[in-house]
Amino acid sequence: MNKNSSNMMALAPNTSNKRETVCIFGTGDFGRALGYKMLQAGYPVVYGSRSRQTSSLIPKDAEVLSHTEAAQKAAIIIIAIQRQHYNFLTPLAEVLHGKVLVDISNNLKLNQYPESNAEYLAQLVPGAKVVKAFNTVSAWALQSGTLDASRQVFVCGDDMEAKQMVMDIVRAVGLTPLDQGSLLAAQEIENYPLQLFPMWKFPILLSLGLVTFFFFYCLTRDVIYTYIYEKKNFSFFIAISIPNRICPILALTLLSLVYLPGVLAAIIQLYRGTKYRRFPDWLDKWMLCRKQLGLVALAFAFLHAVYTLIIPIRSFVRWRISSQTISQALNNKTEPLDITNAWISDSYLALGILGFFLFVLLGITSLPSVSNSVNWREFRFVQSKLGYLTLILCTAHTLVYGGKWFLSPSSYRWYLPSAYMLSLIVPCIVLVVKFVLIFPCLDKPLTRIRQGWERNPQYSE
Ligand code: NAP
Repeated sequence: MNKNSSNMMALAPNTSNKRETVCIFGTGDFGRALGYKMLQAGYPVVYGSRSRQTSSLIPKDAEVLSHTEAAQKAAIIIIAIQRQHYNFLTPLAEVLHGKVLVDISNNLKLNQYPESNAEYLAQLVPGAKVVKAFNTVSAWALQSGTLDASRQVFVCGDDMEAKQMVMDIVRAVGLTPLDQGSLLAAQEIENYPLQLFPMWKFPILLSLGLVTFFFFYCLTRDVIYTYIYEKKNFSFFIAISIPNRICPILALTLLSLVYLPGVLAAIIQLYRGTKYRRFPDWLDKWMLCRKQLGLVALAFAFLHAVYTLIIPIRSFVRWRISSQTISQALNNKTEPLDITNAWISDSYLALGILGFFLFVLLGITSLPSVSNSVNWREFRFVQSKLGYLTLILCTAHTLVYGGKWFLSPSSYRWYLPSAYMLSLIVPCIVLVVKFVLIFPCLDKPLTRIRQGWERNPQYSE
């Protein structure tokens, strides 16, 4: 075996159009899927396997050799093998010397081992240049071509040239490499595929808790109370009326929770007189999931719009309208149009429509494809100014909904106010505090603090 000649091949620049042979260790699911893609991209592929027998599953244009023979044929070797089998590489250390070893492995648990799989590989084969890549792409996505969701490939490694060679392969198979720096980043990259919606956990759990609370709240007030005191069976409210109360409540509450951490942060900064002290952890985490909170709020607002549109075709509503018409006909007397009520009803609907329109606009601008096309000032304008306008419109929509019965003692049942009144608590707090914060006596020091000014500088000269 001529170690040097194969190592020379390792980092020699490719001047011709012909792609260099790539070796894949392991003929399992991922090895085969990547092999297909690389053959399509024009790379000659050679597999290093425990068995030289080829099967119909292995791409037919690829060669299957022993690990040693395959490694000698290529400068880059993709290790498509589980970490627990890496020991077999130790005796191959000599032939792997100077080669680029691509670690694509994942683990079953977060931080399963003290060191990342890529660092472990680098320890086992110290003469090789280890690069971490491809672990966030699934074999199925590679084979089926449905790569839209996972087009990004995080790449890290200590050798710049080796990393560049791997990134060229990534691009050639139609993916987008993202350089994550040195091999120290490997542990984090290995943890990505194991995370389960980390930013969505809090918004979803909070929504579930609020939905449960408001469901039983509305059930008690609108179904159980009316059954006991008015002997009316409104149990069918569970299907549409109660969800259509819960959805706007959740939409408004969650939207206000998007803006609450911002006003809390402002109060903390004003109180401390500096922006250079960390916020408490809970506030940091809350701020990080504001986009997700807003998107869940938008989903509830959307459901509310759909539930509202079907109100006229509900049997209960049609029955109520027809019985009112019949009773007016029987009494030979029509009710005069109540102009105040008409104003309240139309204003309530107009505020709702405008609020919903801006809500959708906020949702659209949070999409990466849209937010990437606006600059930072435009993004802040939409998310902050238009966001607050949405909150004002939606809060006003809820306030006007109560109309003349808002805060009226007759609307209390078992001392419980209507659920929509509860939904106004957080938005009103946020809007009042925000309003106070824009007074120049607070806004000016806050702006200075955010520009770096400190009331009691820690490091004075
Ligand atoms: P797999 O189907 O289990 O295949 C692994 C291959 O490793 C086997 O086909 C075998 O190939 C070889 N192998 C098994 N035991 C070995 C041993 N004791 N010594 C040497 N070689 C051995 O696994 P896979 O799904 O292809 O995954 C391979 C690697 O890719 C894993 O590290 C995984 O974490 C990573 N990955 C997989 C996916 C995916 O969607 N599957 C996605 C991202 C990353 P031979 O029989 O040819 O020797």
